[in-house]
Amino acid sequence: MRIVVVGAGIAGLSTALRAHARGHEVELVVKGRLGDGSTPHAQGGIAGVYGPGDSPALHALDTMRAGDGHGDPAAIAALVDGATAAVAALIEAGVGFDRADDGTIARGLEAAHSLPRIAHAGGDATGRAISAALVDRVWASGLRVREGAFAADVMVDGGSARGIRLLDGTQIGADAVVLATGGAGHLYPFTTNPLGTTGDGIALALRAGAAVADLEFVQFHPTVVSGSEPFLVSEAVRGAGAVLRDADGHRFLFDEHPDGELAPRDVVARGVARRALAQGSPVLLDATTIGAEELARRFPTIDAELRRRGIDWSREGVPVSPAAHYLMGGVVTDVDGRTSLPGLWAVGETARTGVHGANRLASNSLLEGAVFATRLVDALGAAARGLPSAGPAPHTLPGPRPSAAGPFCRAALQELMWGHVGLLRDGRGLAHAVRVLHGWDAPTPRAPAEQEDANLLIVARATASAALARTESLGAHFRLSPALIGAA
Ligand SMILES: Cc1cc2nc3c(=O)[nH]c(=O)nc-3n(C[C@H](O)[C@H](O)[C@H](O)COP(=O)(O)OP(=O)(O)OC[C@H]3O[C@@H](n4cnc5c(N)ncnc54)[C@H](O)[C@@H]3O)c2cc1C
Repeated sequence: MRIVVVGAGIAGLSTALRAHARGHEVELVVKGRLGDGSTPHAQGGIAGVYGPGDSPALHALDTMRAGDGHGDPAAIAALVDGATAAVAALIEAGVGFDRADDGTIARGLEAAHSLPRIAHAGGDATGRAISAALVDRVWASGLRVREGAFAADVMVDGGSARGIRLLDGTQIGADAVVLATGGAGHLYPFTTNPLGTTGDGIALALRAGAAVADLEFVQFHPTVVSGSEPFLVSEAVRGAGAVLRDADGHRFLFDEHPDGELAPRDVVARGVARRALAQGSPVLLDATTIGAEELARRFPTIDAELRRRGIDWSREGVPVSPAAHYLMGGVVTDVDGRTSLPGLWAVGETARTGVHGANRLASNSLLEGAVFATRLVDALGAAARGLPSAGPAPHTLPGPRPSAAGPFCRAALQELMWGHVGLLRDGRGLAHAVRVLHGWDAPTPRAPAEQEDANLLIVARATASAALARTESLGAHFRLSPALIGAA
């Protein structure tokens, strides 16, 4: 089969490598360079290394609980059942996970995991290690790579995806198009995501008529150091014993949840935001009990960056605030990556497999990218043998009336999303955001930045509409004022 894979993070690289190894004719297209995107920024690690007393079943339970019961049991089962093989495949590809004294893979603990089961590499440089190993493999494989190639549209003919059109007009025909374009953190002005994380795959899928779902579930990471480039301090630091304190030195999160700092991420993020609002200053992440040597040994990347910013975290608290981090929703797929549009597939953060429910469990996203890439390629083979390709029913979005608004620009969109479709939401604000977003005209895309802006507008409209339509609080989607739900 001719397969075009769009995106070169863990999901796209893994898909391309496996499809190439299976003898498919693969073209890997990336708007930047191989190994860009969020993957190299991942710190904490990849979940799914089970020690004594642990099991895929317990991991599945934690995943479902963190997702507030909204996860899809079949997708979660596929995720945890594929974990051991996925980690083994990464080791085979050259990823050197950190080892314990007895030579087994060292297992870290992160919030809402019952037991330590997170594999990491280079302490807190897991994503970098995975990305580097997979990129090396791709170059060595000889599969066709196009860097600096911006996928602008999925070509659809006769009700099936037939390839992609690049922004420069080039058309690449294919029997299968795989979207692996990552998340949409730049819907917001404060995000841990690198530049270019603009929801392109979701916009492409929507324009092509494929179903999307769960876009209202945006995860905000609670411990981000602000600055011109927000910098994330991994949850693994809290797993290692760091705590969150308010201006009075009080560990306030136990007022919100019995697990305190290790409560699910949405609970911690809201607690941090509320306390910061109440006291008028950021809360502090206190890692001083861990010790300078241990901090530098276990978290070398974070240690170096904080010191570069003038913070000695072995002696003082780190001021932290929430920032947009991960999108649970996306292009709807079945457990093998098929979307509702025949010939179009999606994998990684851009896909909505159902594993994350309403709130992602820490370190499940690298795992999702690796596991579902494998499943997708295996299903491609089945598709080539003529098996039916069934997709879920399309998800329709409400279509509010347009209303006049100021001129569109990315900064205005981000402020609107932060203010009204952020961590704490209410019906009136959501309705306002939907009206403004639908009143804006998308820029005419000529350059990549304009295409990204147009994509952000499409994804923002879908996200705000989905958030308005979900009238209850669930997981990361939190309604502040029930009295205002649905108020226009
Ligand atoms: C700071 C940070 C820390 C994190 N820590 C962890 C962690 O410890 N554990 C964990 O499991 N997860 C973590 N995550 C989340 C995880 O890193 C991501 O969810 C995951 O890497 C996404 O992989 P992906 O392959 O789907 O997308 P990405 O790695 O984001 O790659 C997307 C690719 O698509 C390309 N692309 C996008 N649009 C286009 C287009 N229009 N045309 C062509 N190419 C395009 C990009 O250039 C890029 O190559 C973290 C994320 C961040 C930002």
